[in-house]
Amino acid sequence: MSGEVITPGEGEIFDIELEEELLEANKRLADENRRILDELGVKAIDIMGSIGSGKTSLIERLIELHKRRDKVAVLCGDLTTSIDMERIKRHGVKVVQINTGKECHLDANLVGKALKRLELKNVETLFIENVGNLICPAEFPLGAHKRVVVVSITEGAYTPLKHPYIFMDADVAVVNKIDLGQAMGIDPDVVVENVRRVAPEVRVIKTSCKTGEGVRDVAEALGIG
Ligand code: MG
Repeated sequence: MSGEVITPGEGEIFDIELEEELLEANKRLADENRRILDELGVKAIDIMGSIGSGKTSLIERLIELHKRRDKVAVLCGDLTTSIDMERIKRHGVKVVQINTGKECHLDANLVGKALKRLELKNVETLFIENVGNLICPAEFPLGAHKRVVVVSITEGAYTPLKHPYIFMDADVAVVNKIDLGQAMGIDPDVVVENVRRVAPEVRVIKTSCKTGEGVRDVAEALGIG
């Protein structure tokens, strides 16, 4: 039996109907969020990726590049803590923390609540930092206009192959921490190639949020700043 791959058969996973209902309800709320954002003329960017991949650092760099900081707002998602919100605050932009408790992703309901808290009238760009997770956020659209997935060299070269769905669902994939490629013994281009294997349509950009390399290309790809 060694070396065998086991997968669930159809209908073998419990609560599948419940899950479908949940996803449908989330989709309706995501559509409502999009309607509110469009009405206000706000472009929302959902930033996904593992813990420690550099989501907050990317947002900080994109804020620095933005011509009008007074027109930027940020939602930070995490299970607990407001560490990221405190970091973002230093850049002088509007920010709200969403703590999901035990939930491994943001959902459209929580984002909808936060949208009501933020004064979005004069905002052009809203960054939404999703909870650090590569599985759940893919299934829960938030109503954002663009989705970005950040993958770091420090995660190893295989992340895109192991977690294809989040890459397939993204508009832009950011391969971050390329400054650590040599130290990690990982060629960033191998990670880029692995993203392309699972998601050929996705724009892939190599960055170092530490040095700022490549971040301007991300801003351009997202049409912000
Ligand atoms: Mg973060």
